Amino acid sequence: MSVKEKLLLLKGSLPQNVTLIVVSKTKPTELLMEAYVEGQRDFGENYVQELCEKQAQLPNDIRWHFIGHLQSNKVKYIAPFVHLIHGIDSLKLLTEVNKQAARNNRVVACLLQIYIAQEETKFGLDFAEAENLLVSAEFAQLNHINVLGFMAMASNTSNMEQVKNEFLSLQKFAAHIKANLGAKHNLEVKHLSMGMSADYQLAIECGSTLVRIGSSIFGARV
Ligand SMILES: *Cc1c(COP(=O)(O)O)cnc(C)c1O
Repeated sequence: MSVKEKLLLLKGSLPQNVTLIVVSKTKPTELLMEAYVEGQRDFGENYVQELCEKQAQLPNDIRWHFIGHLQSNKVKYIAPFVHLIHGIDSLKLLTEVNKQAARNNRVVACLLQIYIAQEETKFGLDFAEAENLLVSAEFAQLNHINVLGFMAMASNTSNMEQVKNEFLSLQKFAAHIKANLGAKHNLEVKHLSMGMSADYQLAIECGSTLVRIGSSIFGARV
């Protein structure tokens, strides 16, 4: 199947409230354009330099999602244009995003990355750390960011029961935050970014609104 066929099949299978983010890391701009001409506008990248190079070459109406691990000293490069930063894992990083967003006269949308997997290697905050961040006095003073929800990656395992439980734990946490912190000027819990090629259907069952899919559309990365 071509990229076009795989993209259209996948898009047709998603519920209306779920946004497909096509993960294009390591893929050449020509392949992104194959998806673009079919109407795809949300793309996800993991590396700042690669994202900036592609952004400069591709159409202006693409919504760029940064889904990788973001270092504070690189925020300035993506702050002028990024649509949503999925991987916020510290107050320090969020404060830097706020600072760079202010410099660009923007409010930058962010998701807090939550650690739900039973693996040592994944980044993210645990539930208590995330809640502490959101109730802190420092957070209340950030006017150039808007936290729209949470992002997580499940364990890389074939045990789908475990993956499901991990996704459900994030759904439950988001509901808890929504009910207990309500809406703030810089917090509106409306997105859960979870699900990749191997587990997106399960993620959608568990309340995902943003699925990040690469290899199912472009084939395996080398
Ligand atoms: C690479 C990546 C994806 C896409 O993974 P696929 O298995 O290729 O669909 C999704 N989310 C993040 C954070 C990634 O790094």
